[in-house]
Amino acid sequence: MKKTALFLGILIFVFSCAKKEDSINLTPVVDPQPSGYKNIILMIGDGMGLGQISGARTMKDEHMNMLRCKNVGIQATQAADNYITDSGASATAIGCGQKTNHYSIGVDINGNPINSILKLARQHGLSTGLTVTSIINHATPASFYAHNPDRFDYEDIALQLISSGIDFFSGGGRKYFNDRTDGLNLIDSLISRNYQVVDNLSNITGNKKVAAILAEVHLPKYSNGRGDILPNSVTLAIKQLSKNEKGFFLMVEGSQIDWGGEANDQDYVMDEMFDFDKAVGIALDFAETDGNTLVIITGDHETGGFALIGGDQSNNSIQGDFVSQGHTGTMIPVFAYGPGSYEFRGIYENTEIFKKMKGYFGF
Ligand code: ZN
Ligand code: MG
Repeated sequence: MKKTALFLGILIFVFSCAKKEDSINLTPVVDPQPSGYKNIILMIGDGMGLGQISGARTMKDEHMNMLRCKNVGIQATQAADNYITDSGASATAIGCGQKTNHYSIGVDINGNPINSILKLARQHGLSTGLTVTSIINHATPASFYAHNPDRFDYEDIALQLISSGIDFFSGGGRKYFNDRTDGLNLIDSLISRNYQVVDNLSNITGNKKVAAILAEVHLPKYSNGRGDILPNSVTLAIKQLSKNEKGFFLMVEGSQIDWGGEANDQDYVMDEMFDFDKAVGIALDFAETDGNTLVIITGDHETGGFALIGGDQSNNSIQGDFVSQGHTGTMIPVFAYGPGSYEFRGIYENTEIFKKMKGYFGF
């Protein structure tokens, strides 16, 4: 009896191992067509953790675009000098692949400039774009084109944007272009560099580079009439950037999810989540038909310590609560779709996202 049980046990063990082996071998690790690795759309919900996603999922009756992604991972967000990261250090980690100090953008812990995936893409002849709902020189987008140990040096960051060569950018911050302490008019600089500068997305025409500077400072909250500026900017950016046969890199930020968290304002958080997810839907629809585009959706850190302490799925309502008016140190989900998305499974540091994107492009 004992022998039979032992034999059966061994048999089950061997069988289960073999089965595991089989399922690993049968799963395609990457899309076998190298031609499929062409474009990346990186979408960052600033301050978007699992609480924010879970709340939005319930309120949208599970109809969230980001949940269309089958490959999901988890990233840790800690900064080099601080357990709780700021948006500069985390965007630098995601965009440039190195952990750095609080308030640093595009520089290492010693203040030396480091290249972002956007800069590498441009050096390799790809088109590049950024679209956000904050000022365009805010920490998250700035980490992709500027180098400064002080993220609040907004005038210098705007100056660096002018010479970045980015093909399409959209966001706020006009005052850092034409109302500067150094007297420079960067709107004129953009025009002389062959940009079309527009204050409304509907004014974009032709093939010139696009500088959409849509507000004096930040764009309004969604609830204050921003409308579909973010999703529309993604449509327009993809239309422009996808003309490049070599491919493109586009970073999209739902900038204000973070500010809703800092204000401990659940409605603000959710409105911004829905808007960001609408933009995610535009990117995923394009990737689905294009077949050569990797879409990555993640946050840079969680904000507010937002927890769901109650809710009702029958009427899609949630009861949330916050434990902080700042950022928190929890890990953040990473959703990936398209060729190479399998690589984003697992648990890793935020810096790995840069390395995976670099590997995808083959730089
Ligand atoms: Zn942030
Ligand atoms: Mg941000």
